[in-house]
Amino acid sequence: MLFFTLLLEVIWILTANGALVSSNKRTSPHGQDHWPASYPECGSNAQSPINIQTDSVTFDPDLLPLQPHGYEQPGTEPLNLHNNGHTVQLSLPSTLYLEGLPRKYVAAQLHLHWGQKGTPWGSEHLINGKATAAELHIVHYDSESYESLSEAAQRPQGLAVLGILIEVGETKNPAYEYILSHLHEIKHKDQKTSIPPFNVRGLLPPLLAQYFRYNGSLTTPPCYQSVLWTVFHRRAQISTEQLEKLRETLFSTEEEPSEPLVQNYRAPQPLNQRMVFASFIQDSPYTAVWTGFHSRKNNRTFSLSEHGDQDSPTVTMRRLNCV
Ligand SMILES: [Zn+2]
Repeated sequence: MLFFTLLLEVIWILTANGALVSSNKRTSPHGQDHWPASYPECGSNAQSPINIQTDSVTFDPDLLPLQPHGYEQPGTEPLNLHNNGHTVQLSLPSTLYLEGLPRKYVAAQLHLHWGQKGTPWGSEHLINGKATAAELHIVHYDSESYESLSEAAQRPQGLAVLGILIEVGETKNPAYEYILSHLHEIKHKDQKTSIPPFNVRGLLPPLLAQYFRYNGSLTTPPCYQSVLWTVFHRRAQISTEQLEKLRETLFSTEEEPSEPLVQNYRAPQPLNQRMVFASFIQDSPYTAVWTGFHSRKNNRTFSLSEHGDQDSPTVTMRRLNCV
C-alpha cells in the first residue's frame, strides 16, 4: 500500500509539464488529453470513468448484493488522512473487505473527487450524462491472488473500487463529517493527520444491492486497466456546507503561491466494446412517463420519481424519444 502510494507519487513528480496542474484542469492544454503521451495505458480502450447510459446496460441476475465486512468498526488505531496534492486520501486497514465479488478483496484506501465553486458537477462517473457534486472511491485489492496493492494494481481485476456518487442534500452527513472536519489540518500537499476510526459503512448509500458493474481503469496516471468497478445506483448526500468545505479547504501545493485543490476528476472515457452490467432491473421509460415528470427550463433533462423512492434519477430526452 505504502509502496503503491509512493510509486504513484514518484510517477506524478516525474511527469513533465506540471502534471499536478494537468490533473486538476480538464481543459488545460497540458491536461488529461496529454496523459497518453507519458502513460500509454491512459489512451487504451478500457479506461475510466465512463458515462453509464441506463438504457444500454445489461441486467445480470448473478450480480450479488455487496457485503462490506469490518466497515462499522475499522479497528481501534487512528486512521491516516493525507493531502497528496491530488486528493484527500484515508488509509484503511485490511480488516475491511468485500464479499459478493468473485474473490476476496480487502480495503486499502478511500479518496474523493470534486469540482469547484460555482459548478454543479465534480463526480467522475456520469449516469445518463449527468454528473453529481462529488464522488467517493473506496479502493480494494484481490488479496487471494496478490500479495500487495501495488502488485494487484497492474493485473486484470486486481483491484475492486466502489464508486459512490455524492449529491447535495438538506442535512449534514455525520459519516462524511468524520473526514471533512479534519481537512483544515492538512490544507497543503503532503500534510497528514490522524483521525479516530469511525463507521466507514456510513459513507455508502443505504441500499447496496443496486449497482452498475464494468471493467475499467485507475482514473489517474498510470491508468492501469485493472479495476473491477462497482458504481452504486443510489447516491450519498452531504450538505451544501460540507461540499463547500471539500471544495475550499485544500491546496495542491506545499506552500505559496497556493493552488486550490479543485476539479480533480477525469473526463468520461469511451466505452468502446465494453459492456456495463446492472444488478437490478430498472423502471421502463413507459412507466416513467405515466408516473409523471417535470421539465427543467434551459436544459434537456427530465426528472422522474420512482415508486416510494426519494431518489430522483435523471433520464435523458433521448430515452423518452419513444413517446
Ligand atoms: Zn478515484
